[in-house]
Amino acid sequence: MTAPAKAFSQFALDPRIQTAIAAMGYVNPTPIQEKAIPVVLSGKDVMGAAQTGTGKTAGYGLPALQRVLPKANTSASPARHPVRMLVLTPTRELADQVNDNLKRYAANTDLRVSVVYGGVDMKPQTEQLRRGIEVLTATPGRLLDHVEGRNVNLSQVEIVVLDEADRMLDMGFLPDISRILNLLPKKRQSLMFSATFSPEIKKLAQNFLNEPELIEVARQNATADTVLQVVYAVHDSEKTESLVEILKTHGENAEPLKQVLVFVNAKITCRRLARSLEKAGIKADSIHGDKTQEERTAALEAFKNGTCEVLVATDVAARGIDIAELPTVINYDVPFCAEDYVHRIGRTGRAGAKGLAVMLVTGGDDRAVAAIELLTKQKFNPVKFSPVKRDRAPRRERPWKDAERDSSRVRPEVREARKTVYDPIFDTPYEPGTEHAQTTVLAKPAHPVVKTKRKAPVAALLGGLIRK
Ligand code: AMP
Repeated sequence: MTAPAKAFSQFALDPRIQTAIAAMGYVNPTPIQEKAIPVVLSGKDVMGAAQTGTGKTAGYGLPALQRVLPKANTSASPARHPVRMLVLTPTRELADQVNDNLKRYAANTDLRVSVVYGGVDMKPQTEQLRRGIEVLTATPGRLLDHVEGRNVNLSQVEIVVLDEADRMLDMGFLPDISRILNLLPKKRQSLMFSATFSPEIKKLAQNFLNEPELIEVARQNATADTVLQVVYAVHDSEKTESLVEILKTHGENAEPLKQVLVFVNAKITCRRLARSLEKAGIKADSIHGDKTQEERTAALEAFKNGTCEVLVATDVAARGIDIAELPTVINYDVPFCAEDYVHRIGRTGRAGAKGLAVMLVTGGDDRAVAAIELLTKQKFNPVKFSPVKRDRAPRRERPWKDAERDSSRVRPEVREARKTVYDPIFDTPYEPGTEHAQTTVLAKPAHPVVKTKRKAPVAALLGGLIRK
């Protein structure tokens, strides 16, 4: 018999916060919340090794708000509203998302909650800061701009949170973070959360945390069990076509995938790929560092409400994208840094929901793939994948007959695999002379789609007639 799930009422949280939790629709605390809330409430420092999407924002946010709540007041004087809780995040999107959550958790209290980040006008932020904010979420660079402008004073911060600390280090924020932490009172509570746990992170923890309690909810650098990982070996020149094919066929019942986040390594690929997808009839947009904050927000909004089906993003831009059940993430490029793989696929399978993570690998990716395997303690079995050659489809009277005949030439073990595995190679006619005609599926792909029958007969894919 499993132990009954514990409720939020087990925690010594103010009724106003409890009401907000209920309004958010949270019924039971997630594992990180169960572990972190009591520790944060006790005033101890925390080093949290939590995967993305585990509910860590509430894990630190709820108890931290509880601790600063006694200082909440309705005075109009800015001096009565100094920053008491500071959350540092690597990106604007994550800052926005954290602030959004904290605002909702504190909705029934008198705490003033706000956010500052770069890329937007400083003036409205300045006005808000000067009026007084108790709970501030910020990206490091913009916060320092405000410190220099004397718009904010950090001398009364009681709790500081470093969210996605590994990402902040990757992005070169260490000097900024150090400067900010040195502006805070020595006597404070420090909480650090990181999806991955590198030696640099441990060093940061040693320098800035005071006898922290280590809170782990999953294996270090693990990928969520709820995410199904599929790796396709594709030819370099066919990456985009393969992606289009996957986007159009890998959904439920071989229908197009919806709400897909596609990761690329460079901004330029981001733009180009989004354009190619549009040309292929897929509603796509891109989000990367060169876009204005307004453009990024609009693209995210369109992605969230479904008007944009595929969002192509760089790692930095994708931080903080929080969609409760983002079903699919595709790594168009293998990330340079193995930790990024954990972050990227952490965008799906959040809070227990099922997710699919596809990665396209080419000949030059061997080392990067091996590094991911090492980090995530798993072995990938890439399945060769080649897009359907629509343009070169033979125009004959009964193309499906050709398809049947040609597919019978495939080696017996491959035919056997075809019975259970959907792969474009098997569902397209054999084309003598193309290198992909020789490919062999060595491993069973774990994709759920593979078990479903395609709706469209081969002939239709070839541009031929559909048999009634
Ligand atoms: P986070 O890891 O903080 O980004 O949270 C991931 C998602 O889980 C967010 O959409 C949260 O609103 C949601 N969430 C956090 N805690 C809970 C909970 N106890 N029950 C249900 N959803 C939650």
